[in-house]
Amino acid sequence: MRKPFIAGNWKMFKTIREAREFAAEFRQIYVPSDVKVAVCAPFLQLAALKEAFQGTDIKVGAQNMHFAEEGAYTGEVSAAMLAELQVDYCIIGHSERRQYFNETDETVNKKLHQAFKWNIGPILCVGETLEERDGDRALEVVERQLRGALEGLSEEQVGALTVAYEPVWAIGTGRTASPEQADEMCGHIRRVIGNLYSEEAADRTVIQYGGSVKPSNASELMNMYEIDGALVGGASLKPADFLEIINF
Ligand code: PGA
Repeated sequence: MRKPFIAGNWKMFKTIREAREFAAEFRQIYVPSDVKVAVCAPFLQLAALKEAFQGTDIKVGAQNMHFAEEGAYTGEVSAAMLAELQVDYCIIGHSERRQYFNETDETVNKKLHQAFKWNIGPILCVGETLEERDGDRALEVVERQLRGALEGLSEEQVGALTVAYEPVWAIGTGRTASPEQADEMCGHIRRVIGNLYSEEAADRTVIQYGGSVKPSNASELMNMYEIDGALVGGASLKPADFLEIINF
């Protein structure tokens, strides 16, 4: 049985001081439930968040990592460095990284292997642009992204994976995919995984929707059959809003 999983993606927001303030406030109002919760923050804030959430079941995630074990990659952060901080998750292949930092299906694939090697739970992002949706290519694009990303992963790894369906046109735009559109694509993702691996693996994979999720639309999205969770950007920056989404 898949547990609902709601993760915040802070992107490039909040200093360490602001992250500590968020954590202190969030801890006060947070009540554990059967929803898994994670906050994915910039690298510098991860240690402070791990410390601030100690003694709770609130998990902490990074937003990217390098695919190499170590090496001459100025400015990059490795999986080993994240593992040392006991970072629980890492977002991989977010569309902003694909768009602005040359992330490709190939680098996404290497990063997934590296995350599993270091026991960091990957949250793999896939999603089509508006042009691709309008050109009726959304299903095909997401399938291509999945095939590229999952190359060489074992059935067990895919079963432990979180996939976030994030249509690029719905991110930070205030424009949410309709629950039906989101559910259709999440179902498609599960079918592709089922075809590539097995029904059992596809049944275990947690599939989130992301793109302008907010307190007012979280419950209808979360109640769709194929949607197991949400990756929340803007609305995860305020403790009260994030909590309202978790309590969908
Ligand atoms: P948004 O971002 O909720 O601000 O649209 C989602 C994401 O990019 O993960």
